[in-house]
Amino acid sequence: MGILYAGPYAHDLNADTVHEGYAARLMPDGTLSSGWSTDPDWPPHVGLVGACSCGWRAERVHSPGDLDGPEYQAAESDFEAEHLGPLVDAAAARSWPDWAARTISWANETAIHIAAGRPHDARYVLDLLRDDLNHRINIADELAEERDWLGTVTDQTANLLGRHDSYGRPFRHVTNPTQVAAPAPPPPRDPPPRGRGR
Ligand SMILES: [Zn+2]
Repeated sequence: MGILYAGPYAHDLNADTVHEGYAARLMPDGTLSSGWSTDPDWPPHVGLVGACSCGWRAERVHSPGDLDGPEYQAAESDFEAEHLGPLVDAAAARSWPDWAARTISWANETAIHIAAGRPHDARYVLDLLRDDLNHRINIADELAEERDWLGTVTDQTANLLGRHDSYGRPFRHVTNPTQVAAPAPPPPRDPPPRGRGR
């Protein structure tokens, strides 16, 4: 298992292509391998590279290293900073406008079905609207939870620095809850759900 984003915009992010990141082994022939083996006959890798299941790979090549070693983690960090983070930002930016446009379209469609005497069709679209709305409510709840959590972190940081909130918050998505960046800061207490599953 690699790194999978499981935050509020996971559905938007992975709608078309699943983005699962990992530290790939750069083999002597220049190819990347996602596998790790203790087989002594396996050729040793010559570097570690951040990569994604969608085919993306980082430019940077880190020194060879062990599973979960510093080089391995650096390659994973490349995936998070250069690929996953921008993808999450883009998904967050388009998610709500897309939903608003979709909702208007489906509502109009429902009205047309009713006017044309097609209640079964209207009901089908209403089901879509309801499921979509429930999904939106879940996202809003996750964002609210994340904001509350980050607010706590920020207040603690401000206290440590002896400064007030007006000094500026260290996490940019506090001021705009639709901006969700990865990786998240280290959790001081139970973090909001954000997957880094293995
Ligand atoms: Zn990807």
